[in-house]
Amino acid sequence: DVQFEPGAIVSDACASYDTLEQLNEAIHPYLHSITQNTDFFSHYRLSLYSKKCPFWDDENGMCGNRACAVNTLDNEEDIPAVWRAKELGKLEGPTAQHPGKKQQREHPQKPLQGGLGDQVDESCVVEYDDECDERDYCIPDDASATAKGDYVSLVDNPERFTGYAGVGAHQVWEAIYRENCFSKPPKVAKSNAQSSLEGASPFGAFNNPQQLQAANQLRNVMKEQAFGNTVKSAIANGADPARLDPVEFDDTCLEKRVFHRVVSGMHASISTHLCWDYLNQTTGEWSPNLTCYEQRLHKYPDRVSNIYFNYALVMRAVGKIKQHIKDYTFCSEDPEQDKRTKNSVLRLASALPDGPEIFDETVMFRDPDTVALKEDFRNRFRNVSRIMDCVGCDKCRLWGKIQTNGYGTALKVLFEFDEHDSSKDPPLRRTELVALVNTMHRLSHSLSAIKQFRQMVEDRDGIH
Ligand code: FAD
Repeated sequence: DVQFEPGAIVSDACASYDTLEQLNEAIHPYLHSITQNTDFFSHYRLSLYSKKCPFWDDENGMCGNRACAVNTLDNEEDIPAVWRAKELGKLEGPTAQHPGKKQQREHPQKPLQGGLGDQVDESCVVEYDDECDERDYCIPDDASATAKGDYVSLVDNPERFTGYAGVGAHQVWEAIYRENCFSKPPKVAKSNAQSSLEGASPFGAFNNPQQLQAANQLRNVMKEQAFGNTVKSAIANGADPARLDPVEFDDTCLEKRVFHRVVSGMHASISTHLCWDYLNQTTGEWSPNLTCYEQRLHKYPDRVSNIYFNYALVMRAVGKIKQHIKDYTFCSEDPEQDKRTKNSVLRLASALPDGPEIFDETVMFRDPDTVALKEDFRNRFRNVSRIMDCVGCDKCRLWGKIQTNGYGTALKVLFEFDEHDSSKDPPLRRTELVALVNTMHRLSHSLSAIKQFRQMVEDRDGIH
């Protein structure tokens, strides 16, 4: 049986399990309240039914259980006024007289002509979802004013056990993990790599394949050193070096490992939610299922570690957009509610550690010649978001889409945003912000559930 080591550093992050759990206890109430009590963060608009699986014929993978179904908000009265189609219909559409993206960014507070009135900011109804920014890590779910989209209340459609399983579900997970097969760099012994680099500029043009090979190898060594520095800084912050994270490393570079951890952490977090909110089909009661937890998570400390890793990564991303949130206009028909929403998000953001204390994204894609690797990483993550249209259970597809969008947004913020100069930052859509915060809430819920599951195992086994 694998023992959990609370003082161990979560590999590739700069914090220990303990630290993350303590932080989680402090911020979980904020996250819970933001996602459950505000219109802005409890409604999501997406293409839930209109896209076909682009990879295979998905007819066989459909889930017929009632638990798989999503209740969409078909009645306009249930949707906050500014997001209703009628209200959206007042706009003339992005190709007509609608102000361009650039103009909107320059005058974000300017009301639309003949449009929404003084109280409603245009950012409330205009989304750039019909345009894909090259710096996006997700395919936008086409929720623009003109596109067909479905409004979903996330409070009424909680993520929990649905019974979706078997070949269909496995096919989706397999396809997702297949995206992790980056082309492998050629293998060269480290000493050869360094010696054959002699006389060559590390980032310049290479005249022969050996030099290129050697440069690739050296780059990987440098990245591993950067990773080592992350661990060192964690130790400097008080983490216990004797306790090692259960994740075992092979020779993959940091970026590819991070890709795997994000995907596996998302999978493990979904497993945690369905084990926590599990339907006992005999009694008809919803309750935590300890066997489910033990079989899917407890036996696999690497999966659990990946959840904590994702928590650190997403938390850093939310901390990084503090200023963005200060400048953001939250939109409901009720300015008082908007003020409350903004204040709650700001309270959450200010409770997060400043700077890269828990996760240091600057060690990734650091070298000038990792442009291609970053593009590869981004394209692969976009493919993961496309695969979500192959999920044969509506509720799983809903939460799968929210969480891939949440991680995609976190990656976009980490690798494309400048904390100190936002002038060149790509735009952040409403759906991205909602997905980011809800994904953080899901991870926060996973951390609390795992802690309680661990306690249940200890109580049962008499471990104190
Ligand atoms: P699966 O979870 O399907 O895993 C398949 C294989 O992947 C395992 O055999 C193992 O080899 C490997 N694996 C498992 N976990 C990890 C990990 N963390 N890291 C690396 N490898 C791993 N079901 C619900 O009840 N509710 C939901 O909300 C829900 N949402 C889903 C969302 C998506 C996007 C998908 C694809 C599926 C969803 N499912 C949901 C189904 C659920 O994830 C499982 O597929 C299902 O419960 C069957 O589980 P399993 O034990 O056969 O293994």
